[in-house]
Order: sequence, then structure tokens, then C-alpha cells
Amino acid sequence: RLQIDNLVMAYGDVDVIRDVSIAVEPGTTTCIIGPSGSGKSTLLRGVNRLHEPKAGSVALADDDALALKPDLLRRRVGLVFQHFNLFPDHTALENVALALRNVKKMSKGESRRIALARLTEVGLAERADHRPRDLSGGQQQRVAIARALAMEPEVMLFDEATSALDPELVKGVLNLMAELAQRGMTMLVVTHEMGFARKVADQVVFMDEGRVVEAGTPDEIFDAPKSDRLRLFLSEVL
Ligand code: ATP
Ligand code: MG
Repeated sequence: RLQIDNLVMAYGDVDVIRDVSIAVEPGTTTCIIGPSGSGKSTLLRGVNRLHEPKAGSVALADDDALALKPDLLRRRVGLVFQHFNLFPDHTALENVALALRNVKKMSKGESRRIALARLTEVGLAERADHRPRDLSGGQQQRVAIARALAMEPEVMLFDEATSALDPELVKGVLNLMAELAQRGMTMLVVTHEMGFARKVADQVVFMDEGRVVEAGTPDEIFDAPKSDRLRLFLSEVL
């Protein structure tokens, strides 16, 4: 379970996350939607401490995430970005295996065995020996997801994982994310893909100006929005 309570985050003197509370139950998926600049990425960066929150709490299972060592926290919370940051000179397999060796201190043989298993799960076993430049954007993103999964995280965070992809590649990555959700991964997903949010999310959170404006089931958020701000947002994106 990931529980964010009364989180406040700032850049300099400017608060961009203002008293945000979100609970993600084990095995469920929460999608965060909201306009550009509403603080979605900043919130995810707070959860795994790429940017330290100013106030509030983040709990992971029974642990205070803000008191854990950041590298320990990041082993337990996987993050997949828009840009996948793969090592260009290493194959898909080595990109996943290196993370296992560096973070989990595995042997070379074991890291490669597990990396291949994870790549197989994301449908890339046959591309294991390709370098990133010889993979499509969607395949590169699936390598990044395999790399995050290889850490066996308790929670996965996705920040616009498909928005840098060519349109024809988006679906494959969304299908993989839906499959992870179905298999019981606990996920917090920032997305512009309203179809994905509606279909896959257990909970949808609408943020604006650093606050949670509305949260509810996909039916509540998409079919019965309560606030003018959400109605306006949906009229622009749907
Ligand atoms: P988008 O949908 O465009 O990705 P977002 O909801 O992810 O937007 P954030 O990137 O979290 O929004 O930004 C929230 C606010 O914080 C914005 O006003 C942004 O300009 C500001 N901001 C983001 N990163 C920084 C930074 N490194 N320094 C200063 N301000 C920042
Ligand atoms: Mg963002």
C-alpha cells in the first residue's frame, strides 16, 4: 500500500504540491490526470524522493518512505518515465542485467538469467541482444519497464510512459501496463490516455494547481464529474 498524506512540495519558495493525499491500495491502479503544470510529475518525484517533499508523509506498507534511505526506497518503488534513459552502448539484456548487478549485487550469470525472464515477460525475448537504437521507441520503453520490474518493486510509478512514443507504438506499452495491473501490481500512473484510465484504473485522481480536485472511480470521474474544473478539463481532452 502506498499512502500519501498532506504532501507539500516546493521549488524554491513556490509550493507546487499543496496538501495532496492519495491512497493506493495493494494490487490496485490509481491514475492521475490533470492539466500541464498541475504537479503530477512533481508528486511522483516526491514519492521516490527525486525531489524531497517539504511537509506531509509518504508511507510504503508500514514504512515511512521519507525516512528510508533513498536508494533503498527506489528499490521498492519503480519509476518509468517518458524518456527511458537506457544505456545506448548496452544491449536490452545488459540494460536490465546491469541494474540487477548494481542494485541487487547479483552475479553476472544470475543477472542475465533474470533479465532474460523479465524481457520475456514484456515480449522482448527475441530482441534481448539488440541495442536501444535498434529497437523501436515502444520496445525501448518495454525494456525500461522490464528493468524496473526486475527490481521486484512493491509499487510502480509511471510518468507519461507513452507520450514520447509514435502513435502506433502507444498501444503495445499501454497493453503491457494493463497486464501488469491485472497481475496485481500496485501502480500509480500519470497519464494523458483517458481510455487507459477509464479501463484500467481502480481510482482516478484529478489534480489541478497542485491539489487533488476530485478522486473517484472511473465512472464517477468520467461520467459524473462534480467540479467545473474537471468538466472543463474533460471537455478539452476527450
Ligand atoms: P505536465 O503534464 O506538463 O507534465 P505536470 O502536471 O507534470 O505537467 P510538474 O512538472 O509537476 O507538472 O510541474 C508543476 C509545477 O512546478 C509547474 O508550475 C512547473 O512549472 C513547476 N516546476 C516543475 N519542475 C520545476 C523545477 N525543476 N524548478 C522550478 N519549477 C518547476
Ligand atoms: Mg509531467
